[in-house]
Amino acid sequence: MNSNWEIVIGLEIHAQLATKSKIFSGASTAYGGEPNTQACLVDLGYPGTLPVLNQQAIEMAIRFGLAVDAEISSRSVFARKNYFYPDLPKGYQISQLDLPIVVGGNMSILDGDGNEKIIGITRAHLEEDAGKSVHEGLDGLSGIDLNRAGTPLLEIVSEPEMSSAREAVAYMRKIHSIVRYLEISDGNMQEGSFRCDANVSIKRFDQKELGTRAELKNLNSFKFIEKAINHEVMRQIEIIEDGGEVKQETRLYDSDLDETRPMRSKEEANDYRYFPDPDLLPVIIDETYIADIKKTLPELPNAKQQRFIETYNLKVSDAQILTTTKQLADFYEAVEKIANTESQISANWVIGDYTAALNRDDLEIKDAKLSAADLAGLLNKIADQTISGKIAKEVFEAMWDGEGSAEEIIESKGLVQITDDSEIETIIDQVIENNPSQLAEYLSGKDRLFGFFVGQVMKETKGKANPQKVNEILKNKLT
Ligand code: ADP
Ligand code: MG
Repeated sequence: MNSNWEIVIGLEIHAQLATKSKIFSGASTAYGGEPNTQACLVDLGYPGTLPVLNQQAIEMAIRFGLAVDAEISSRSVFARKNYFYPDLPKGYQISQLDLPIVVGGNMSILDGDGNEKIIGITRAHLEEDAGKSVHEGLDGLSGIDLNRAGTPLLEIVSEPEMSSAREAVAYMRKIHSIVRYLEISDGNMQEGSFRCDANVSIKRFDQKELGTRAELKNLNSFKFIEKAINHEVMRQIEIIEDGGEVKQETRLYDSDLDETRPMRSKEEANDYRYFPDPDLLPVIIDETYIADIKKTLPELPNAKQQRFIETYNLKVSDAQILTTTKQLADFYEAVEKIANTESQISANWVIGDYTAALNRDDLEIKDAKLSAADLAGLLNKIADQTISGKIAKEVFEAMWDGEGSAEEIIESKGLVQITDDSEIETIIDQVIENNPSQLAEYLSGKDRLFGFFVGQVMKETKGKANPQKVNEILKNKLT
């Protein structure tokens, strides 16, 4: 990207909290119900109804705050953010402004050079989601579905401290990973349970104050976030280099056209006429409550990654991949416990073939037929030299397709490795005899042909000859 310009990005991430009922009512938060079957009178904004705070939402916000080393406010306040929109029957959204529940905090990411970079978290506050307008299949009409109205959200606001689209994605992935470890959000991006608004501006490197930002609304895929930000940066550079000015506004990213377009000019906080919601008491949180929640926090990705590096001697990048989700980390550790292969080799299989198969079939770990014990069983066949790593890939695919255990498949397909020296020698002799011209060339100095002979032996044995032995014996024969 253009090196005259420093890119500045701040993200507002909305994580839908995984409570069973809504933040201020008892209606269900389950996804995908028939329109308006999960909206009670509170969600519909009927006069005379009163919101009742869901304690689980508070607990989840505190869990997040503790995980990012934030301060948990001993007193936080819900406020009304007033605006008109068809999917907001009350005419205001209950949110938090001056006194959010989580203040400060930080998150480490890897920057473009692979170095650790700390991104500051400004705040995280609780709020309710709005409903949805529905247009599809209504023949020129719009419908309103209020099932989502009142669903609890944690809005996590970062400092404007990311300096590339990549860093923004790395930060968002990290937050995604953490909310899932904490089990406070399912993080389902397709269903909109995890999305972000990206604030983007540019400035000259020697310029002190930040440039005017544009806000890209509701990005819900890592791929689109990166594209949308890069696109927006280019747009701003062009405007400024042409002598124009960036307007502060909210823009929408169109992934089909790969472009952003204006949605509305940016409102300021005072446009919303925020005031404390008189129907809700301030939330008072004491130290023992926080301490009790702290005791229930799981091992988090950074700590787990560090432990994986120390315990299993893994490459940093592999440890990072394996600890992205708790499920994958647990799977790896279960494999590692049973497998006699080196930890790094087990890791390669989990990150490589296993993850590729999950992605190919679009499966979650819990839904895959191949268990950690199954995979470890296969690895043990490599460790005891029953099969080579290459044949193991073939066995893996058969196991994935449910054809049986490693043992059964090796048996039924006759894949046991040939390790018997004399047997390999016989085949090698034959290969040499059948290829006299290659032999002559090799002996006259064409060293590259060694690989040709290895290849022929492997072909002859359908890949079953022990590769180390083939190399050893061939070397002896050819000198
Ligand atoms: P609002 O809630 O009205 O959108 P905030 O002041 O809370 O505004 O900021 C929202 C986000 O915008 C924060 O993540 C912040 O880091 C980011 N931000 C603020 N100013 C800039 C800027 N000049 N360039 C990029 N990001 C910015
Ligand atoms: Mg905003």
